[in-house]
Amino acid sequence: MKISELFRQNDKAVLSFEVFPPKKTSGVESITAAVDELAALKPAYISVTYGAGGNTANTFTRDIAAHIKNDCGIEAMAHITCVNNSKEEVITVMDSFKEKGIENILALRGDISPDKPPKTDFKHANELIAFIREHHEYDSIGISGACYPEGHTEAESLTADILNLRKKVDAGAEELISQLFFDNAFFYDLREKATIAGINVPISAGIMPVTSKSQIERMVTMCGASLPQKFVRMVTKYESRPEALIDAGIAYAADQITDLLANGVDGVHIYTMNNPYVAKKIVGIVEKLL
Ligand code: FAD
Repeated sequence: MKISELFRQNDKAVLSFEVFPPKKTSGVESITAAVDELAALKPAYISVTYGAGGNTANTFTRDIAAHIKNDCGIEAMAHITCVNNSKEEVITVMDSFKEKGIENILALRGDISPDKPPKTDFKHANELIAFIREHHEYDSIGISGACYPEGHTEAESLTADILNLRKKVDAGAEELISQLFFDNAFFYDLREKATIAGINVPISAGIMPVTSKSQIERMVTMCGASLPQKFVRMVTKYESRPEALIDAGIAYAADQITDLLANGVDGVHIYTMNNPYVAKKIVGIVEKLL
């Protein structure tokens, strides 16, 4: 089922998870147990990254998404990027998704790897979306896009980024998933500006629970999310006690989600970091609020 249909059918906020494939040296089996535990929490769907953080893209995304859909019975979304694919390769990848029963993709420009020059057939996600939509054999596949509460790091301004976001929606993105953020005010600002720009598809809020100080440093370097004082104080207090930091991170994420739900968010997308323990704790706190 298309993710957009899940939003239409649901009067509650749609809860989804994101997982990433293992490095090429370990097999898909190395994360199957974690994926199964996450699927047991019954999110509406689970998305699987593709070449994220500059990792070499391979068939793992497809295979993990197929496992989620066919073995766990949970809707799956496979990410696909411009930087890893020529037009011809997009067709091959899309055919293989379709053959495995995967009905949803997240179309992205992709993270550029310093070790691998990007493919150049598609410069931006909207071009990839338009290309897929021109191929009617993929009409049954739902397409989502990414959005950025603080603006994308390369954008001149949030307004310029939102005008580009509109191109993605005009090309056929039926849902948007946001980059992680630690201050909900940024998300509300994006939502308001998107509405003004005529963007009327559901927007899911991307929430990343902190599990370690190094993880936060890495993510913030990559996506440029600002860290509110409240968050910095929490990390500073617990950074030398890893277990306490995980609990504090769970509480912080649950607090963000509670506020988002109270403010009518369409969906909550948890960047699980393949950690079922953390996802389980958060779902335990917020499931009755959805
Ligand atoms: P685009 O929409 O192309 O935007 C990139 C920049 O170009 C922005 O500054 C935008 O304002 C500008 N722009 C957009 N369209 C145009 C246009 N037509 N003309 C001029 N300028 C334009 N990366 C991975 O490699 N693999 C993943 O699996 C992955 N998953 C992600 C999941 C989520 C939910 C999010 C939020 C990000 C993910 N990323 C992933 C990271 C993403 O690839 C990067 O943030 C990337 O830099 C931008 O991707 P995009 O699709 O938003 O690009």
